[in-house]
Formats: sequence, structure tokens, C-alpha cells
Amino acid sequence: MQIEFYGAAGEVTGSCHILTVRGKRVLLDCGMIQGGRDATERNRREFPFVAADIDAVVLSHAHIDHSGRLPLLVKRGFRGPIYTNAACRDLLPILWRDTADLGLREAERINRRREPDDPVVEPLYDLDDVERALKLVRALRYDTSYEPVPGLSLTLRDAGHILGSSSLLLACSDGGVQRTVVFSGDLGQYDSPILLDPYPFEQADLVIMESTYGDRLHRDRQATLAEFGQIIAAADASRGNVIIPAFAIGRSQEVLYVLGLHHEAWRLRDWQVFLDSPMAIEASRVYWNHIDRYDPEALRLRANFTAMPQLPNLSLCRTADESRAINRVRDHAIIIAGSGMCNGGRVLHHLKHNLPRPECHIVITGFQAPGTLGRALVDRLPAVRIHGELVRVSATVHTLGGLSAHGDQEDLLRWYGNFTNRPPVCLVHGELPQAQALRARLEARGGQAWIPVPGFVLDLSTLTEKGVRSS
Ligand SMILES: [Zn+2]
Repeated sequence: MQIEFYGAAGEVTGSCHILTVRGKRVLLDCGMIQGGRDATERNRREFPFVAADIDAVVLSHAHIDHSGRLPLLVKRGFRGPIYTNAACRDLLPILWRDTADLGLREAERINRRREPDDPVVEPLYDLDDVERALKLVRALRYDTSYEPVPGLSLTLRDAGHILGSSSLLLACSDGGVQRTVVFSGDLGQYDSPILLDPYPFEQADLVIMESTYGDRLHRDRQATLAEFGQIIAAADASRGNVIIPAFAIGRSQEVLYVLGLHHEAWRLRDWQVFLDSPMAIEASRVYWNHIDRYDPEALRLRANFTAMPQLPNLSLCRTADESRAINRVRDHAIIIAGSGMCNGGRVLHHLKHNLPRPECHIVITGFQAPGTLGRALVDRLPAVRIHGELVRVSATVHTLGGLSAHGDQEDLLRWYGNFTNRPPVCLVHGELPQAQALRARLEARGGQAWIPVPGFVLDLSTLTEKGVRSS
């Protein structure tokens, strides 16, 4: 019995670990590496294991940094089942087809500029690989135990991070030894809109835990919502538009939900709300259909209306023409459009039209990686380049920190605090400073914590290090 760490080890993205029980190898997540100059090249590398030797995959949630390389795993020979929650299963086609499409277009762009002697660039995977991978997905219910391979009992528990996100309870039995491993997946904030709180586990022999915001506290949710309301009031007074760059899955639905919840209080009847992203529209349908995962407040609202969210003035913009038509609206439009970090997508033309106008407001709701247009806005640059054109930033840019999909340090400690036996922890899914800060807090409480490097192997029977495998 052992566990090997290959991705999201000392960094946030590329989640990928292998659990071995009775000689069977079970992959926990198979995510894409995102951000950083060498991400494209790293995603193309061979896996540090043989894809065909993996017996089964357990997927914690649909986000690309957890699921994005599964079609590639299939392309390289994996034929086993992919176990995940039913809501996650419904989100995967949306994300994987979009990723394949983006990869195809990127490869075409590179090949157009290719010198005659350069090799032809292939996309990481294509739509056929996506369809093959989708056929392997097996939807599981929460709170029910399954046996993906002999000697392993798997139970998914709600992680409260996005719809269909799971923490995994992995009960292993091998050679007369029993070990319980809990893999947190990505953990949501407590009391976040729509979703339930992360499930409180009480016992484990080992915890594998995310540490994205292991060193940070988010702004209080009530203060965040109050600020959101003030921004809309300010835009109302100045007779401008509000642009919200949003991630298609999770954040877009949260923003719509929050707007629905405050429809009266924020006087939204005077506004038009546009969801300008075909991917976010598809994801919203999945969100509204899985009411079994709602928190009590969302359930109460859902019971009173035939559809969520209850925004009578919401327009769903599927076509490019519908998107362009919004440019004619000069005031009282709330435009939710991707991409979340403004490094592509329809939000670009909305920014081009609204950034030079001092009466407009831009609301940033998520993490902005260095080098993206979103980061330039957060850093208050006086002008930015969009489609090769220099655009003056006269609109007001707001950063709304409290809507993150990840718990902060206090949330992570609260989740770990449910374990009554203080099990040892492997900290993954965090940059080193964040993981180290969280380790210091855990050790101060008498816990033991590793920060695995890629290739780190832990013996599950003895709970000791077996060394680092070179990949
Ligand atoms: Zn995630």
C-alpha cells in the first residue's frame, strides 16, 4: 500500500496522485498544468507512469487543473473506469470539449507561422479523445461506498468547492493492514452561496489536503456583498455599465445567484443582466438541475421559482451577434462574460468599449495570474492593450476578494479540526509559501505535515517516506 505524488506537488495546478492497493493502481485526479511559461510543454510530456497500467481513476471535481489531462490519458492507452460524482460528470463534456477546441485552435495558429523545417504541432487531444474519455466516466452518488478495485472502498463526500466537487474517503485493506486516507480535493469556503459546506470527516490515518490559500484570510462575506451592492449603486448614479469577467463554471452561477438574491435590495429591476458566454450558459443549466446539492437557502429560493436564478431581466447570449449587440447599451447593463482572467473571450470587446468610460465599473471576482489582462487591471495600469490596441482605463476597477471558490487558512484549519485523532497530513495544491504557512499552523496544533515534491512516495502501512521517484 502506497501513495505517489506527481502533480500539484509544490504548486497549485496539475493535481495527480497514485494510490496502490493490492497491486492495483488508482489515479486520483489527472489535471492540467496552468500558468507559467512552460505549462504547454509540461502538459505535453510523457506521464511519469504508464497510462495503460492504471486500473481506475477517481476524479475529485471537474476543474481543468484536476480533470484536464484525462482525455490525454485515454489517448495514451488508459481504458479503465473514471469514477466521479454525477454533477461532475455533467460538467465534464462542457470543459473537455472547450479545452480540445482551444488546443486545436492554438495548434493551428502555431502551424500557420511555422518555418518549413519546424515539426507540425499537434493539439494535446482532439474531440474524438474527449468522446472516448466521456464513455469511461461512471457517475457515483455522494455518501455511498463503492469498490473501484479489490481492497479499496471509496466514498465521495461533498467538498463545497464547485457543483459536484468531492473529498474522497479511501478505506484501503492490504495484507491484513487497514488504512483510511482522506483526500480533500479542493475545499470551498464555509457559508458560500448555493453549495453545502465541506463535509466534516472525523477519522483518518492520513490526510491529503489542499493549501491554495494556506497563508491568507479572505474578506468577510457580508462585507463583500455590501461592497458589491455599493458598486451597483455607484454605477446607477454615474449611469454606466458594470462588467464582470467570470469563470464559466462556479463563479458565473454564484454571481447570478447573488444578483437574484439582492434583486430588490439593489434595485436591479432598472438593469439588464447579460450572461454572455455559451459555456457558462451550459454550465448554469447543470447547476440549476442539481438541486440535491443546494444549501437550505438556495433550496428555499428554488422552491419558489420555476427556474434559478430568479432574474426576470436576465438575457442569455449564445451567439456572437447577441454579444455584439450589447455594445449598444450605454448604461444599466451588468455584463458577465468570460474569460475570468480576461486573457481571451467575449469580455475583451466589452472591456474595449467600457474601460475608457469613467462612468463604468469593472468587478474582478477571482484570482488573476501574472501576465494576464485581468492582472493588469487589478494592478491599476493606466492603459492596457486589447486586440493590439491601447485602451485607456478610465472606468473604476474593483477587486471583490470574498467570492473565492477556495477556503482560506481559517477554513482549512476548521476542516482539519474535525478530525478527532489529528492524523498526519500531506499538503498539496499550494505554492510553497502557502503550504509552509499552513504546515506551521498544523504543527503548532501537534500535527505532522509533509509537503511532497513530485515523485514523493509514502508507504501507507508504516506511514513513512519511501523516497522520491525520478520521473
Ligand atoms: Zn478546483
